[in-house]
Amino acid sequence: MGTIICQSCDSTIAHFEDEKVSILYSHSQKCPSCNATAAEEN
Ligand SMILES: [Zn+2]
Repeated sequence: MGTIICQSCDSTIAHFEDEKVSILYSHSQKCPSCNATAAEEN
């Protein structure tokens, strides 16, 4: 199982099917919390 991690706060965003255990830091996708923060800053 793979895990997608928010690069801003290291929170788990989502899981995806994978043959091995892997972690991906998301550059384009942030967790809902960080998305809210980014929206306020912009
Ligand atoms: Zn985050």
